[in-house]
Amino acid sequence: MPFIITDPCIGTKDTACVDVCPVDCIHPKKDEPEFEQMTMLYIHPEECIDCGACVPACPVTAIYDSHDSTPASQKDLIEANNVYRNGDADAMAQAEALVKAYVEAHAELMAIDPKERQTHH
Ligand code: SF4
Ligand code: SF4
Repeated sequence: MPFIITDPCIGTKDTACVDVCPVDCIHPKKDEPEFEQMTMLYIHPEECIDCGACVPACPVTAIYDSHDSTPASQKDLIEANNVYRNGDADAMAQAEALVKAYVEAHAELMAIDPKERQTHH
């Protein structure tokens, strides 16, 4: 079961997880043209090997280790991780639409500093 990036990544997006992922399955990376336009980063669900290296690397505790452990408040972002495919314009737009809808629906969480947001999940 793949790991999931959730909302503390929004507004942080520092790519610390990308640097430690052994299979290069977190996108977009800083040197990819899609990086600037994306609201957050995404884990490719079929390429993730569940190694766990990204979890302690994330400075804002944005990554959960399975669908089951992802809190209910973050469930919409599971689908965003599922559909995102770097370089596929339609898939990227679909993921971003899910994230934008999530942001609009969770103004109270978005108002919290990303470093503190996970404690409110
Ligand atoms: S669990 Fe491992 S393989 Fe999966 S995204 Fe994190 S670092 Fe990459
Ligand atoms: S380390 Fe955390 S905040 Fe940084 S890009 Fe990865 S998931 Fe987002």
